Amino acid sequence: MNIAIDGPAGAGKSTIAKKTARELGFIYVDTGAMYRAIAVYLIDNNISPADEDAVEKSIEDISIVIKYEDGAQQVYLNEKNVTGSLRTEAVGNMASKSSALPCVRAKLLSLQRNLAKEYDVVMDGRDIGTNILPDAELKIYLTASTDVRARRRYAELIDKGESDVDLSKIERDIELRDRQDMERAIAPLRQAEDAILVDSSYMTIDQVTDTIIKLAKDRL
Ligand code: C5P
Repeated sequence: MNIAIDGPAGAGKSTIAKKTARELGFIYVDTGAMYRAIAVYLIDNNISPADEDAVEKSIEDISIVIKYEDGAQQVYLNEKNVTGSLRTEAVGNMASKSSALPCVRAKLLSLQRNLAKEYDVVMDGRDIGTNILPDAELKIYLTASTDVRARRRYAELIDKGESDVDLSKIERDIELRDRQDMERAIAPLRQAEDAILVDSSYMTIDQVTDTIIKLAKDRL
């Protein structure tokens, strides 16, 4: 069984998908991390996402491998575990730009489909229900208002001990990321026709997870 969870940045997809996977005994596949690994490669090698030819040439020979260690997804870029460097704003912004390129999406498509073929997965991303796993047994479109998503991100950064955080800048970044992800020509973020909309703005993590698990069990 495969569960696809799509939605905009900051809607809580990874927290919810991880928890749902754990409770169902499924594998959690974080596809954003794969786009972020490519972004790390582009940043480290000074390659601009505006230069599509350069990106295409440079990523031809890189390897992205996914492993599970103690149940947690690890991303290997050219045999080096880069999981710890993926979750910065700079990498997220670069991933949002480079993921709009067809060569980048093509590079990750079969990796994602093969994981879903091999395991029962909860896979989160932007185009899982619409493009990667069109036959997933359950599709969720998880969203929350921009304001709520910005506040959650703000709290997360404060929690991490960062002092220089500006709520209105976070909100602007989220709006920009939404626009980039929803308006791109290839595999834009949108709700699949057969996806169930879950608005987490006024729901707790447990409420959202329970809703998804109940829907999954109805389909088992
Ligand atoms: O979900 P996360 O913030 O880690 O994703 C980073 C970026 O990767 C997103 O803003 C999006 O542009 C891209 N992405 C994508 N398709 C996916 C997952 C992520 O285009 N399935």
